[in-house]
Amino acid sequence: MLEALFQRIEDKRDDLVALTQELIRVPTVNPPGEAYTPCAELIGNRLARRGFSVRYLRGEDTPGDSARYPRTNVVARYAGRAPGPCVHFNSHIDVVEAGHGWTVDPFAGIVRDGKVYGRGACDMKGGLAASIIAVEALIEAMPDLPGAIEISGTVDEESGGFGGVAYLASKGLFSPPRVDHVIIPEPLNKDRICLGHRGVWWAEIETHGSIAHGSMPFLGDCAVRHMGAVLNRFETELYPKLAAKHTDMPVVPEGARSSTMNINSMHGGQPEGFEGLPSPCVPDSCRMVIDRRYLIEEQLADVKAEVVSILDDLSRTRDNFDYSIRDLMEVIPTMTDREAPVVRAVAAGIRDVLAKAPDYVISPGTYDQKHIARIGHLHDCIAYGPGILDMAHRPDEFVGIDDMVDSAKVMAQASLALLTGRI
Ligand SMILES: [Zn+2]
Repeated sequence: MLEALFQRIEDKRDDLVALTQELIRVPTVNPPGEAYTPCAELIGNRLARRGFSVRYLRGEDTPGDSARYPRTNVVARYAGRAPGPCVHFNSHIDVVEAGHGWTVDPFAGIVRDGKVYGRGACDMKGGLAASIIAVEALIEAMPDLPGAIEISGTVDEESGGFGGVAYLASKGLFSPPRVDHVIIPEPLNKDRICLGHRGVWWAEIETHGSIAHGSMPFLGDCAVRHMGAVLNRFETELYPKLAAKHTDMPVVPEGARSSTMNINSMHGGQPEGFEGLPSPCVPDSCRMVIDRRYLIEEQLADVKAEVVSILDDLSRTRDNFDYSIRDLMEVIPTMTDREAPVVRAVAAGIRDVLAKAPDYVISPGTYDQKHIARIGHLHDCIAYGPGILDMAHRPDEFVGIDDMVDSAKVMAQASLALLTGRI
C-alpha cells in the first residue's frame, strides 16, 4: 500500500517542481507583504479543484494590514468519508527580501542540477509544495480515508506571524477538535524532526543625554557615549554569562545551545540617509534594539532582569546615566514531547523512506509553532520539511528536488498513520 502511495508521489515529481516554481514566481516579499492575495489564491484555486473547501481569511487590523497590503490567508479542508482526526499542514507564504549577491533571478523559479532556485525555495515554498503533493497523492490513492486534511498558507511568519497563524489561532482554526495534529514544513532537512524552538525577548534600550553644540560637547551630554558604557558592560559581563548557559534542548546548530543575544540595531544622533552634511550636535538620544534568545531552562523574568540590573547599576555608578527600556516582543520557548503522535508518525516515515533514524532538533529561531501552542492550545505540532536550514534567507536560495520528493513521501505516510490511528 505504501509502495503504491510512494510511486504516486514519484509520478508527480514534475508537478511538484512546477508548483514550487509557480509559488516562487509570486513575489510575496515581507515587509511590506507583497502579493499575498494572488499567492493564497494560487493555493486555494488548486485545492478547490481537488475537492477541498477553501476559505480566505484576512488578518484584519493586524500589523501591516491595509487595502494595498491585505494579510490574506488561505485554509483548505478536505473532509474524509468518515469522522476522524484532522491533520493540518501549515506553511507561511511570505518570504524575506531578495537582498544582494544572487547569480540567478530570485523570482524566476529556475531549475538547475536537481534544484529549484529562488527566494523562498527553501523557506518555505518547497515545503509547501511538497505537502500539497503529499496530500493530493494520499487522497487519490485512498479516497476512503476517515478524518480530514487541511492545508493552510499563512502570512507574516517572517515578521512574527500576527496577521497569519496568530490571527487564525485566535479564531479557533488551530484548536482541537477542529485540528488534532500539525506539521509545519519549514526547512529543517528531510531527516530531522523539529520539536520546537527557543524563547525570544526583543527590547529597545534608549539612553538619554542633552543636546548642545558639537564644538562644546562639555555643555551637553552624549547619549551615544552612555550607550557605549552599556555595550562595554554587555561585552565584559553579559556575553560571557550567556555563553556559559547550556541547554538540554537539542538545538541546532550547536552554537545555539547556549543563550545568545544579537544587537539588532543601534542609532544615535542625527537621522541616517541624509545626503547633505551633518550639523554639529551632541546626540541626546541613542537607541539599541536587542534580540535575546533564551533556553527552556530560563525564565523570561530572569532574562529581562539580567539586562535591567546592568542598566540600573550604570544609573548608580555613571554620572548622568539615564535610560528607558521597552519590550518589543516576547515568545515563550516550546518543545513537543518525543512520544507525541505527530512525532512518532513522522519518525516512522523517515525510517521507512530514508532508511535511517530521525534526528530530533530544536530551532534556534522561532516560527509559527509558538502561536499554535500558546493561542491554539494545540501541542501535537512539529516542523518537518525539505530544504537546508542554512540556505534560508541567503542569496541563491534553493531546494533540492529529491529532498522535496522524499519529504512528501514522509508527510503522506505520516498523514495516513495519523488519520487511521495506526501509529
Ligand atoms: Zn520559514
